[in-house]
Amino acid sequence: MSSIVYPPDYHTHTELCHHASGMPVDYAEFAELKGLEEIACTDHAPAPWKYDPEHRMVSPQFVRYRDGVLKAQATGKCRVLYGIEADYYDGCEPYLARWLPEQSFDLVLGSVHTGDFWKFDARREYPDPFIKNLWRVYFTQLQKLVRTGLYDVIAHFDLPKRSGIGITDAILREIVIPTLDAVAQAGMGIEINTSGLHHPAGETYPSPQILSWACERSIPITFGSDAHSPDRVGNDFETAMQLAREAGYTHSARYRQRQRTLEPF
Ligand code: ZN
Ligand code: FE
Ligand code: FE
Ligand code: ZN
Repeated sequence: MSSIVYPPDYHTHTELCHHASGMPVDYAEFAELKGLEEIACTDHAPAPWKYDPEHRMVSPQFVRYRDGVLKAQATGKCRVLYGIEADYYDGCEPYLARWLPEQSFDLVLGSVHTGDFWKFDARREYPDPFIKNLWRVYFTQLQKLVRTGLYDVIAHFDLPKRSGIGITDAILREIVIPTLDAVAQAGMGIEINTSGLHHPAGETYPSPQILSWACERSIPITFGSDAHSPDRVGNDFETAMQLAREAGYTHSARYRQRQRTLEPF
């Protein structure tokens, strides 16, 4: 048993999304083995109109997800919160505004997964204006996500770096800082997502630089592995806690029924 007290892992998936393995009970079991006291199940939300069906459960499966979380909560392993990762995309708002309040989620992660940055090849050279445009498009979507007021925490904040394509400091400031200001004004949190350490990007989402800008704006943070298999729950949390401290954080956010409190980590 480790003596470290870990913050909760607030970003995990299940086999229902077709690109992950395990059900909530399996995540709870591994979380307990690793000494985590709390996790949230945050699988990809079902979406109507066939938005990205390869990466999410269909609506009729949602009851299996809810029951899976209830079952994990009943094991008494670690505390298991009922969450969801809900995509923002153009046109999603009327549906989510109706659907999210009908559920009894503890927290709702907001993500933007769309953009041409998925197709980047880190071995190639791209002109700065091209990269800048991709970042601008992504962060414009992220700002729209923030303005909906439908989400609690922004997932993988600087996802366009995923394939390892760098961006200049000037562009970073110009595009990211207004988004952080919007996040702060909306009272939302952001997560430190450790999955980026294993992507070509080779660093957490967001980067240490963005994390310190977030801390300057008193934006609350959560920790998330974005585990797509149960054994990866809580992955690299020592690294993430260290980065959070270096950025100036001493507390992380906890959620219950979408109400936030802050706890030292
Ligand atoms: Zn996923
Ligand atoms: Fe995501
Ligand atoms: Fe995720
Ligand atoms: Zn994710």
